[in-house]
Amino acid sequence: MATNGNPQLARRDYEVVVIGAGVAGIYQIKRLIDLGVNATVLDANDDLGGTWYNNRYPGARFDSESFTYGYSFSKELLDEWHWSEQFSPQPETLRYLTHVTEKFGLREYMQFGCRVDAMVFDEDTDTWTLSLQDGRKLTTHFVITAVGVLSTPTLPKFEGMDSFKGISFHPFYWPHEHLDLRSKRVAVIGTGATAIQFIPEIAKEVSHLTVFQRRPNWAAPLNNSVISDEEMAAIRARYDEIFATCSRTPGGFEHEPDRRPFNDVTREERIALWDRLYDGPGFGIWLSNFVEIFVDEKANAEFSAYIADRIRQRVNDPAIAEKLIPKDHGFGIQRVPLETGYFETYNRDNVELVDSAETPITRITETGLCTSDRTFEFDVIIYATGFDAFTGALDRIDIRGLGGAKLRDKWADGPVTYLGLLVSDIPNMVMLAGPQTAATNFPRGAELAVDWATSLLEYMREHDYSRFVANEDAEQRWFEHVKEMYKGVLMSKAKSWITGYNSNLEGHEYGKTRYNIYTGGGPKYVKTLNRAAENSYDGVSFL
Ligand code: NAP
Repeated sequence: MATNGNPQLARRDYEVVVIGAGVAGIYQIKRLIDLGVNATVLDANDDLGGTWYNNRYPGARFDSESFTYGYSFSKELLDEWHWSEQFSPQPETLRYLTHVTEKFGLREYMQFGCRVDAMVFDEDTDTWTLSLQDGRKLTTHFVITAVGVLSTPTLPKFEGMDSFKGISFHPFYWPHEHLDLRSKRVAVIGTGATAIQFIPEIAKEVSHLTVFQRRPNWAAPLNNSVISDEEMAAIRARYDEIFATCSRTPGGFEHEPDRRPFNDVTREERIALWDRLYDGPGFGIWLSNFVEIFVDEKANAEFSAYIADRIRQRVNDPAIAEKLIPKDHGFGIQRVPLETGYFETYNRDNVELVDSAETPITRITETGLCTSDRTFEFDVIIYATGFDAFTGALDRIDIRGLGGAKLRDKWADGPVTYLGLLVSDIPNMVMLAGPQTAATNFPRGAELAVDWATSLLEYMREHDYSRFVANEDAEQRWFEHVKEMYKGVLMSKAKSWITGYNSNLEGHEYGKTRYNIYTGGGPKYVKTLNRAAENSYDGVSFL
């Protein structure tokens, strides 16, 4: 086999294989290389970046403040990188990840175009054999998965989808070469965070845009801005403070909840806070709000009514405004999309909103699509229809652990993990950003998981162990705790990835809750992880 000058390609045996060269995988390989571990990263894409390699749709950008999203592990890196915007756009983020990879010499440990199809554990040697799509087989002592939480897009199953003669795609696969949408009639199906980012961008370009909305989503302004040299210098000077704040807030952001009791605050004071947050940047409107918004139906309803009024003020046609206001769930119960001019987009003459709950899409045709009452002609159809979240990417690898136990079977009704990092019956595998970890600002949680996984491997080395596996009783206790935490929050009713809902996947119907995240927040989660590590990895058995 040709090695293309890359010595990694000639190898067959590793101490650690990391799957995924995104935000988590890049930091993981850095830690392993620093320890002198024989390790490699495999990624199915043609280059690094994970989510930021794939999602190249117009308007794709952070919802996290850029300076809270960057890696915190290197002062030199923090000092030299200038984020140009409060919420970095996708091209800049990909440049950042490429810069980090090259700065620390990590590229030579990465292999691209490598999709892992299967992993089988050999109990005699305590090694994994990985089968790659290109026919290669690799062996490794440990596997660390960094496969992303929203990396397996899902398409609807409309009749006739293959017959469409125009261009159609999921925005995860937005063409890498420039897609000229001028003079094109474009359909967008779905109105989640992805579509809410690109709809205002493409509306400016296309000849006509039709948005098929089945269920509106609450969304609030991103309020992005440019970061000047002076502002960046001020950010650099307070990086320690920024990361300290992120580590004490539930979501891993600088946005801290307003801890004043909702009922002790006058209506005027509530409105003053909400006006400030709505006109302020980022997730403040969600995460710096009163805590009751997340747990108390009445408080949530009052706040949702406030947001509904703000939407009404931005949309000229009152009937369209009503269609854009969710009626089946309150604000913040699902992950809140942040937008730039989304609602004003519906004031444009070249944009139409179709309620596909009222008039469902019945089939895709060669030249467009049919709903229950109309026929439409399109040049482009964009299926912004979401992801097989959290478990999708892992389910697509045939993972067989002790006694041939299949991870996919074990998770048929939803994930069950120990601390969101390990799975009983699946030894010598750690999941970074796996299901049932605290859903926080992604890199903040990823750095934590990488550090935990690296310490576990160091512990194995120190004790000359060759196998670790989570105990079933510890796993069951964690799962019960995760379920218990869902009980206290309104998010447990979310019709979204938080509860595993996806109308395009069997077994993901609404009501069959899949406990995808730990809702107890970052600080509590970190304490649990640290406690386990300090107690000789409590809940884990070693051989
Ligand atoms: P999503 O939130 O799951 O939205 C999918 C949309 O497609 C929904 O409006 C859904 O309607 C609709 N849909 C799905 N199947 C359909 C069908 N068969 N017929 C008609 N409509 C259908 O997916 P997403 O927008 O890609 O966002 C997923 C997640 O990615 C977000 O929650 C967020 O965590 C992440 N994200 C992050 C950023 C960022 O950080 N900047 C940006 C974008 C996305 P229903 O609601 O009726 O099912």
